[in-house]
Amino acid sequence: MKQDAAAIVVGGGIVGICSALSLAERGVPVCLVDRDAPGQGASMGNAGVISPFSVVPQSLPGLWKNIPSWLIDPKGPVSVRLAYLPRFLPWALSFLANGNEAQVRRTSAAMDTLNHDNILLYRKHLDGTGEERLIRDSAYVLAYRDAAKARLDTLENDLRRASGATVEYLSAAELHRLEPALSKDYSAAILVPGQARALSPGRIGAVLAAKLRDLGGRIVQADVRALRREGEDWVVETSIGAMQAPSVVVAAGAWSRKLLEPLGLKLPLESERGYHAVFRDPGVNLNNSVMDMDLKFVASSMEMGLRAAGTAEFSGLDRPPNPKRIAALTANARRMFPDLRAGAVETWSGIRPSFPDSLPVIGRLPGLPGLIGAFGHSHWGFMMGPRTGNIVADLVTGRSPNCDLTPYGAERFSKNP
Ligand SMILES: Cc1cc2nc3c(=O)[nH]c(=O)nc-3n(C[C@H](O)[C@H](O)[C@H](O)COP(=O)(O)OP(=O)(O)OC[C@H]3O[C@@H](n4cnc5c(N)ncnc54)[C@H](O)[C@@H]3O)c2cc1C
Repeated sequence: MKQDAAAIVVGGGIVGICSALSLAERGVPVCLVDRDAPGQGASMGNAGVISPFSVVPQSLPGLWKNIPSWLIDPKGPVSVRLAYLPRFLPWALSFLANGNEAQVRRTSAAMDTLNHDNILLYRKHLDGTGEERLIRDSAYVLAYRDAAKARLDTLENDLRRASGATVEYLSAAELHRLEPALSKDYSAAILVPGQARALSPGRIGAVLAAKLRDLGGRIVQADVRALRREGEDWVVETSIGAMQAPSVVVAAGAWSRKLLEPLGLKLPLESERGYHAVFRDPGVNLNNSVMDMDLKFVASSMEMGLRAAGTAEFSGLDRPPNPKRIAALTANARRMFPDLRAGAVETWSGIRPSFPDSLPVIGRLPGLPGLIGAFGHSHWGFMMGPRTGNIVADLVTGRSPNCDLTPYGAERFSKNP
């Protein structure tokens, strides 16, 4: 069988697109395969936060204390389907074990590597496409109802400062001057300047996919059913036939585990479903990305309207979205903006691919020469996409990625899968 490309990227979410684009930019003949149009999946509906200072892992010391109240509140930020609990428990325990300060600091440093230049790298990718305005300078506003919780002397803010952020306290008056649309229920905020936000994450994916095509990359719409080794190459079995290449990049988000298990690689990749509601004609506007720190969702004004996105639901990869969670998010967004108009609301849900230590797998997959992993970016895949793509292109072309890949190695789970 003849080779179809030098590299095939499986999965056309933002991580796959950025990987294929970085490869094409280096002159590598590349083919991107996805069962949908590129840029869908979790990459389409996220909150669009692009922050060089997103260096706070999900699991933190003392987090476990919040979990019971989160789980019993039907409008709360986390839900677990009861029948899924036995499968979820080992992941959850490993997640909590990662919440000790020493590990959190190590994870944070590894997140910094992937996020440090994310705004710059996105702007480079968008340069010359005519769609440069899809990324806008922004601050992150972490809004609290209880002013006593808006503290600067926390581990989270310590980590942000260590990555170069300035972190400021906003009184109620300052907060409402900055974001007049917000409910007066919020009585203080932490401000992290120097970030960016996407005005349409889905369109950024589509624009970068078009750029990939312009650079000679192929985009194939097909379902990938299996990966198998043949001689020195990998064969990608798809719904429209087989394709072959010496290098295959697995960037299939939450579905990566399913593709790799038949090859003997068992990884603790969990499906963390999130939701969004877009208010098409909101009648209110935000100047920045704003996170409700009690209910853990982010609101942002985008080109299609005002989007509220977030929440975490653990119910398995194949479980359909839960309409109650969508209703809860929509109601929470209405509480955030009392003057929100009653017009059309579009809802969406997508699956974050999450490892218990908050870090993705990026690198050569153990025992599978020629196969490169780029998945598991959890809450940060949109912003980590460009740097991940650069690392993938380094690995395929045999260049040193100029950073330590150990924290992202799939090997880290081999002792304790
Ligand atoms: C509500 C919510 C808010 C978020 N907010 C932010 C944010 O503000 N900033 C941020 O950085 N991140 C955010 N994230 C996280 C971010 O969206 C994800 O980490 C990121 O999109 C993951 O990208 P991906 O390319 O790995 O996966 P995906 O976007 O899920 O792409 C995977 C692709 O693989 C394809 N695929 C899978 N299996 C196969 C197969 N067998 N054959 C063919 N194709 C296949 C799928 O069709 C899909 O297109 C958020 C996520 C959610 C859900």
